[in-house]
Amino acid sequence: MTQKNVFVICILCFISLVLSAADKKSAVSSTEANKPSYQLPQPAKENLDLTMYRRIREEGLTYSHVMEYASALTDGIGPRLTGSPNVKRANEWTRDQLTAMGCSNAHLEDWGEFGMGWQQLNTWVRMSSPDTAVFIAQAAPWSPSSNGAVSGPAISVEIKKDEDVDKYKGRLGGKIVLLGEMREVKPVDKPLFEREDDKDLAKIAEHPLLEENEYAQYLRDFPKRMALQEKIWNLLASEHAMGVILPSRDGRNSGGSGGTIFDDSRGLVQAAYKREHATPLPVVDMAIENYGRVYRLLKAHVPVTIEMNVDTKFTGDHEHGFDTIAEIPGADPKLKDEVVMVGGHLDSWASGTGATDNGAGTVVAMEVMRILNALQVKPRRTIRIGLWTGEEQGLFGSAGYVKEHFGFVPLSIAPDQMKLPEWLRKPAGPIQLKAEQEKISGYFNVDNGTGKILGIYLQENAAVRPIFEQWIEPLKDLGVTTITMRDTGGTDHESFDAVGIPGFQFIQDRMDYGSRTHHSNMDVYERLQPGDLAQAATVEAIFVYNTAMRDQMLPRKPLPHPELEEQRKVPLKKLMPGAEEVPETGADGPK
Ligand SMILES: [Zn+2]
Repeated sequence: MTQKNVFVICILCFISLVLSAADKKSAVSSTEANKPSYQLPQPAKENLDLTMYRRIREEGLTYSHVMEYASALTDGIGPRLTGSPNVKRANEWTRDQLTAMGCSNAHLEDWGEFGMGWQQLNTWVRMSSPDTAVFIAQAAPWSPSSNGAVSGPAISVEIKKDEDVDKYKGRLGGKIVLLGEMREVKPVDKPLFEREDDKDLAKIAEHPLLEENEYAQYLRDFPKRMALQEKIWNLLASEHAMGVILPSRDGRNSGGSGGTIFDDSRGLVQAAYKREHATPLPVVDMAIENYGRVYRLLKAHVPVTIEMNVDTKFTGDHEHGFDTIAEIPGADPKLKDEVVMVGGHLDSWASGTGATDNGAGTVVAMEVMRILNALQVKPRRTIRIGLWTGEEQGLFGSAGYVKEHFGFVPLSIAPDQMKLPEWLRKPAGPIQLKAEQEKISGYFNVDNGTGKILGIYLQENAAVRPIFEQWIEPLKDLGVTTITMRDTGGTDHESFDAVGIPGFQFIQDRMDYGSRTHHSNMDVYERLQPGDLAQAATVEAIFVYNTAMRDQMLPRKPLPHPELEEQRKVPLKKLMPGAEEVPETGADGPK
């Protein structure tokens, strides 16, 4: 190698070094640029458009139309049991209203097969002897028809364990069965209607350290309970009982009394909407005081005759469920493919008109879209509404939408898990994601009744707290004060959260939701509070607008890893000083 060659080589080296450094630099900045914006550092200060706050507040609070939507949905359409003709009307009506208010691309999306379509046409139940009495009762959802009025002696049936089944063999033919023992009916000595006070809010804001896990216990016992339920209904069918009366369950503060009945299928076989689990004979939910009178007469060996007419109709065996979807398209060329979603579930139970559960969340989300359309906002990101169905039977509509667009969590196929209905099975992971999952900034849900918005559950997403704190500062005079790290469950934001999308449910004033309206015959228009709903729509519209307008998408929690769950729970090993080693034992003895 000559001196000159060395020099040339050195020059070449230098040039290639410079080139490769430049290459690397551009590679780094291009991966930064390709990262979804929720992964980038977030600005410390939110750029709030207070003029828009003012305009949304005026449109939402002074010129609210939320109660018009509410009356059309609850009075005009009525109860919206998934699979029913009414829920189909509600899907079509919401789609058409969203178009009429100026949304684009309003359409229905099929989330899959649900089960039987069903309608209650008329139900009455009365006592004809030893006295006459008119009772408060309605058909349990998916009850078959009695095909006209039937009359028979009443009998009380209480089955708590498998062995009890035999006691009733040969005794139930042609009888009207009061199924289950009478429960205690306490006086209503606390208000059925309550708002959160400062103490309640402080408690919500505080993170619980050790939650007692009632739900885990419920899950553990679930297959056993369902197996017993199956046996009971097989007995009633094979004995040719004529009809069944269920006592209404209670609500918070003894709200399950005074004419309120709950019809959320407690006491029925799981998934009564599936043909293969169909309830074999007419069944009604009855007011607890009416149930109590007959129950006490039977206990005292007084013969009681009941007449009932359960007039119901099945409208299809393999009905599909649909979500209503519509948009305000994004206007920023760089951000318009990104989305912020708002929604709630459109379906309800059958005995009321589904006003607070979840007509409220539905009309609030519609009003959010109306407000933003009325103000002719040009959002940077696309704003999309999703009104889900099948929520009451297991978040089917939102989960189906999320699976189709964003991703899904494979469920456990362990033998004990396979005995559970799909919505109760443990997530097994790893999570499967679709490309659109990187394009959705957040999802906002209302499904805790008619109460105004008091704050928001962060669903453990700590990074979003400083952002929402700034957003609610100008909303404190509307009562929006509280941000909590807590998870809240039981509704559709969970479908989004499960696949790593920031999904939020607001903290709402509790009102008479848990006591009287949730899943009851009293879930009707009169229970809706106009001021609260107008406030909720205004606040939600501001959250949605801010999410659509800020430079970045909302920060996310790390993606959940359900596949690591079991491993993370294993107790530490070789920990105790002085402990002797013992062979690990499995179910089959030492491994
Ligand atoms: Zn609900």
